[in-house]
Amino acid sequence: MKNYRKELFYNTNTRRKIINITREIENCVNESSIKEGLCLVNAMHITSSVFINDDESGLHADFEIWLEKLAPEKPYSQYKHNGYEDNGDAHLKRTIMGREVVVAITKGKLDFGTWEQIFYGEFDGQREKRVLVKIIGE
Ligand code: ZN
Repeated sequence: MKNYRKELFYNTNTRRKIINITREIENCVNESSIKEGLCLVNAMHITSSVFINDDESGLHADFEIWLEKLAPEKPYSQYKHNGYEDNGDAHLKRTIMGREVVVAITKGKLDFGTWEQIFYGEFDGQREKRVLVKIIGE
């Protein structure tokens, strides 16, 4: 069995951002030369997510509105977590959007359903954050 590991880095210019990272993950699969296996992609921070959904701007706006209803950023004082930090909302948003995705690799390609794309969801950005890509297979 072969294995491959890589870290990807993101530093968003806004507190929250959704970034399509599908091409970068495809590049990792190509680099790994693994043809049949599994690809794990996870955020290495507790205030950002990796998830799979549609690359459609209306949906991304809906995620922002929905997450702000569930866990509004402000007022910061509403969160017990916000003593020395102001990112209580980001921890909650990350939890609902998930930590990681696992995608099958078949014949050297990510084996997606229709419209599936991989996204990095940043909820407390403007600093360097990491995403882990781990691929195992043959
Ligand atoms: Zn925190």
